[in-house]
Amino acid sequence: MSLQGQYDPSNIFAKILRGEMPCAKVYEDDHVLAFMDVFPQSRGHTLVIPKSSEARNFLEESPERLGGLMLGVQTVARAVRAALEPDGLVITQFNGAAAGQTVFHLHFHIIPRWEGQAIGRHASGGMADPGELRVLAAEIAARI
Ligand code: 5GP
Repeated sequence: MSLQGQYDPSNIFAKILRGEMPCAKVYEDDHVLAFMDVFPQSRGHTLVIPKSSEARNFLEESPERLGGLMLGVQTVARAVRAALEPDGLVITQFNGAAAGQTVFHLHFHIIPRWEGQAIGRHASGGMADPGELRVLAAEIAARI
C-alpha cells in the first residue's frame, strides 16, 4: 500500500481496538492504546496507537489529536525506561510501504536498546511468547 489510499478498518490494529483480536495491553487512556509488539525488535518493544482515528499514517492524523497522541507516546516511553532500564530508546514510526510500514493504522514504536545488543529486523523477526509479553506489559504498566 502506498502513502496514498483509504483507511482499511480490517487492519490488525483496528481489530485490536475493537477487541476482536487480543493484545498484551500496557496502557490506555482517552487518546491512545499501548501494547506489546508480537514480533519485537528488542525486549520491551511497545506500540502506541491512536484510538478513534482513521489515520493510516502520521501525515493523515488531525492536528487536534496530536497532543494526546504524543503525550501517550511519552508516558509509555517513560514507563518502558523505568521498568526495563535500557541504555537507550528508539521512538519511531513509518509512513507508507516504501518506508517500511506494514500495518496501516498510525502507530509509534518504542524500542528499548542496550549497549552491545543488536536489535532484530523490522517486522520480520520471530513471534514472542504471549506469556512473556503479558509479564513485560504488566512490568511497564506498573511504572505508569
Ligand atoms: P509497521 O511495519 O507498520 O511500522 O509496524 C507494524 C508492527 O506491528 C510491526 O512491528 C509488527 O511486528 C507488529 N505487529 C504485526 N502484527 C501484529 C499483531 O497482530 N499484534 C501485535 N501486537 N503487533 C503486531
